[in-house]
Amino acid sequence: MAERTIPIADLRAAAAVPRVPDRPVAPTGLLADRLGRPLRDLRISVTDRCNFRCGYCMPKEVFDGRYPFLPHAALLSFEEVTRLARIFVAHGVRKIRLTGGEPLLRKNVERLVAMLAELRTVDGEPLDLTLTTNATLLAKKARALKAAGLQRVTVSLDALDDAVFRRMNDVDFPVADVLAGIEEALRAGLGPLKVNMVVQRGTNDHEIVPMARFFRDHYDGRVVLRFIEYMDVGNTNGWRMDRVLPSAQVLERLDAVFPLEPLEPSAPGETAERWRYRDGRGEIGLISSVTQAFCRDCNRARLSTEGKLYLCLFASRGHDLRALLRGGASDEQIAGAIGLIWSDRDDRYSELRGSGQAPVASGERKVEMHYIGG
Ligand code: SAM
Ligand code: SF4
Ligand code: SF4
Repeated sequence: MAERTIPIADLRAAAAVPRVPDRPVAPTGLLADRLGRPLRDLRISVTDRCNFRCGYCMPKEVFDGRYPFLPHAALLSFEEVTRLARIFVAHGVRKIRLTGGEPLLRKNVERLVAMLAELRTVDGEPLDLTLTTNATLLAKKARALKAAGLQRVTVSLDALDDAVFRRMNDVDFPVADVLAGIEEALRAGLGPLKVNMVVQRGTNDHEIVPMARFFRDHYDGRVVLRFIEYMDVGNTNGWRMDRVLPSAQVLERLDAVFPLEPLEPSAPGETAERWRYRDGRGEIGLISSVTQAFCRDCNRARLSTEGKLYLCLFASRGHDLRALLRGGASDEQIAGAIGLIWSDRDDRYSELRGSGQAPVASGERKVEMHYIGG
């Protein structure tokens, strides 16, 4: 049973104001943390609200009409997000993913996309700019997003069976409208597109093969389906290990029907293990966050809706960059503060959990997924 409230005195407030070094050193793009991991990937949550109530992320009993979502003034403005993103890029970030909550609910999000699309990496290249969405508003927004400079999208879809999907999103939203969003995104040129399916044993694991068959047969390799292990993010989803279907079993079930062979990772720090259908009909991904930790290469930072920096999806404390932004710090000072924070990072929650150690101190609460994004 999910807990009713998150004491709002508040995990989201559990953030330290970052220390600004006395003499900031200009970013070199070569920042590394205590385990030698670079900073390459920034995920930015643009809203903590969502029009779905997926039980593994925002269960209805907790995220109801009484839940204190952030007031508008607490959110970073697009100018503030872009200013921080520019500093992160100077530190070596090459990929930015907009997420949420549901990022397409943020008004005029395409204006933010256009602002971020102007940024260049330390090597002078355009950023890899992408967005994760439940696709409820994608058919309407795909063209504007593409025109603004978005390169790709990832769509979340947990089942093709309409009754199963409506139950999982818990707001009775139909599969057909998500598929219409996918079609429109492909027509607008936002491909190749990834589809994420969170697999929960006993809820939608019978949909693994039908999902694979559908995306193989309909899209000529333009859609890569990725199976994600159900994770113990946040404190409210009532996570239990026996609801996780290990990726190895997903692979076994798929390989029995559509023989597969492994592919090389496309980039260091890539979360998905890639497999290709032997008959040449595209590829799939397996994201084994629970059974096979990939902390060793984790180069991802997360920026919450209100400007707190989290160094791990399972962190319990953030670093309040908004306090610096709104307290008059210079770009140089903020860059210096981010440099100190990343250099001190030693997070590796999944690895510790996997090796049987307690990854979170007792009494600590993890941050919620909808607030820092996936
Ligand atoms: N609302 C958007 C969506 O669903 O695509 C973006 C935000 S959502 C938090 C980002 C991703 O996190 C989604 O693909 C979602 O399925 C995944 N996710 C959320 N809770 C999860 C959990 N407990 N385990 C695994 N993946 C989860
Ligand atoms: Fe909303 Fe995405 Fe979370 Fe589902 S996974 S509740 S769509 S934020
Ligand atoms: Fe990265 Fe934390 Fe996930 Fe490990 S548990 S891969 S450090 S986000």
